[in-house]
Amino acid sequence: MIALHNSELLQAAVSLLYPATCSICGKHVRAGEYLCSGCEAKIVRIVAPFCQTCSEPFKGSISSAFTCANCAHRTIYFEAAVAAYRGRGVVREIIHQFKYARQIHLRHLVARWVRAALDDERLRDCHFNIIVPVPLHPARQRERGFNQASLLAELLSAQTSIPSKPLLERIRYTTTQTALDRSERMENLHNAFRLRKNADVRGLRVLLIDDVLTTGSTLSECARVLKRGGAISIHAAIAARA
Ligand SMILES: [Zn+2]
Ligand SMILES: [Zn+2]
Repeated sequence: MIALHNSELLQAAVSLLYPATCSICGKHVRAGEYLCSGCEAKIVRIVAPFCQTCSEPFKGSISSAFTCANCAHRTIYFEAAVAAYRGRGVVREIIHQFKYARQIHLRHLVARWVRAALDDERLRDCHFNIIVPVPLHPARQRERGFNQASLLAELLSAQTSIPSKPLLERIRYTTTQTALDRSERMENLHNAFRLRKNADVRGLRVLLIDDVLTTGSTLSECARVLKRGGAISIHAAIAARA
């Protein structure tokens, strides 16, 4: 956390000397902004029709609420995973800078995208008791220096006054999921998470937070653990859907 504060102080000092610039193209932007209007305009919002469970958008004119075939054919332990944006282009680039290039100040921009998901009607009236970040394995967290989901959860907690607690831990170091298909992902994730010692989730409505939603397997596995621990409902707000 000290490293984080130092980098923020440095950022503040730098912004006094240099005007703010777009994180993508380098054009000047207003202080406190991360993207120019041109790059901002390239961000792709998810619009209906989309799956009520996993937010996967579909082409066409389906007017009633529906669940996609992928969600219908597997057991999903969360009620809904909501993303307001596609994780492509500008969004993907910003999330990469944030996660892998240690551009930690970009968490404010990424948190705005998570916040947009909270305005969705599937989440708006849920009265969550607790915000829980999707955990990283300790080895991966050491390597990265932080858990991006925890940083986002802390910002969301400050904005919504819902407490954020790291109630889950990741106990299996799973290989990267990208090369795996859906069933292999589920297999790979089985028993990857558990409740932290002394975590009591009985009777809670939980909001899970993560940066990117791909198949929803990670979220479902977290939700399974939380439900087994007695949580009433599990929803998820994510910055972007891959
Ligand atoms: Zn730009
Ligand atoms: Zn779905």
